[in-house]
Amino acid sequence: MKVGLGGRILIGMLAGVVLGAVLGERVAAIQPLGDLFITLLILAAAPLVFFNLLAGLTSLTDLRTLGRLAGKTVGFFLTTELIALSLGLGAMALLRPGVGLRLTETVPEPVSGAVGEAPSVGDVLVDMIPTNVFRAFAEGNVVQIVILALMLGIATMALGAGPRARLATLFEDLAGLFRRLVHMILWIAPVGIGALVAVTVGRYGADLIGPMARFLAGLWGAQVVIVTGYMLLLRFFSDFRPARFLRATGSLWATTAATTSSLASLSVGLETAGRLDLPRRVYSFVLPLGAQLNKDGTSVMLAAVLLFTAQAAGVTFSPADFVTILLLGMLLSHGTGGVPGGGFVVALIYVQALNLPIEVAAIVGGIYRLVDMSNTTVNIMGDMVGTALVARSEARRA
Ligand code: ASP
Repeated sequence: MKVGLGGRILIGMLAGVVLGAVLGERVAAIQPLGDLFITLLILAAAPLVFFNLLAGLTSLTDLRTLGRLAGKTVGFFLTTELIALSLGLGAMALLRPGVGLRLTETVPEPVSGAVGEAPSVGDVLVDMIPTNVFRAFAEGNVVQIVILALMLGIATMALGAGPRARLATLFEDLAGLFRRLVHMILWIAPVGIGALVAVTVGRYGADLIGPMARFLAGLWGAQVVIVTGYMLLLRFFSDFRPARFLRATGSLWATTAATTSSLASLSVGLETAGRLDLPRRVYSFVLPLGAQLNKDGTSVMLAAVLLFTAQAAGVTFSPADFVTILLLGMLLSHGTGGVPGGGFVVALIYVQALNLPIEVAAIVGGIYRLVDMSNTTVNIMGDMVGTALVARSEARRA
């Protein structure tokens, strides 16, 4: 019997659970296998995004279509993020994990030095434009790479028929080349994912007690609500049935949870969207932008960490404060860089910007990998669902 990729990944994960449970912390020795998998996926991400998007753009006939796509995508991103932040606040208000947390006992040590400043809207916008083509690639800045591809795509459309056709073939071939590379990398996915699962199980097996368990319950509860919302959206506004969607995307969720990196998962996301027969001009645009900009899972976490910290510090917020909290949260959630633990740094900035003690927020750092697994999964699921919704509404117009 031939076992497909999803099945092999599942076997890898089960082996990882057993290994982690048996070996405990010693299993950390196989971490490099997991890191190798993450590195290879990130290696493929930047050129894959670039050429996929260029190839997708050359199939667009006019700029109005592009504007419409961008409008729908950004609208979806902003709405779901606002909901995600509110759910994170709601879950913590309900479970109150921070209330009664005895700071003197739990605070490990002060977090030293500056954790960074919250950026302004202007900073975020200016930062989207690459100052240097090569730097955008060298830093793996997905938003900058998308902007660059958009500009070059538009320039390609403005060329004469001859060069335009030649470039379209070239982009198509190069996109195919990098898709093939991802297929090859996915061969080691069962080992890479298995190793990452083993390390997580070995490390966090017995760690979950008291306030942190309530924090996680609240966070995961709110994220389950979001995922349920996604499934309802898929059911009523896309061509997918939730069960079929989840079945067909299983290896993607194994990747997001194991790598805890949106950037590494992007390569697999693009491959999955292709397999689901979603239109390339939609997914090649929505997925990379989403991987950097649409962070529903992270947004729940940011709001949750903030309220958890405020509860522990005995701070209450006024309604006006909540407006600031939501706006700042939306701005900050984009800054996670799509790397493992990226959201944690941003959470500390968020907490500091609202004058709360970052030492308390830092406690979450101890279990951040568990937090990050669900954050990254929800982040990427939001992008995939957004892609399916935009694809359906575009197909309706056609
Ligand atoms: N690691 C997550 C991501 O790549 C972000 C987070 O830490 O919440 O999307």
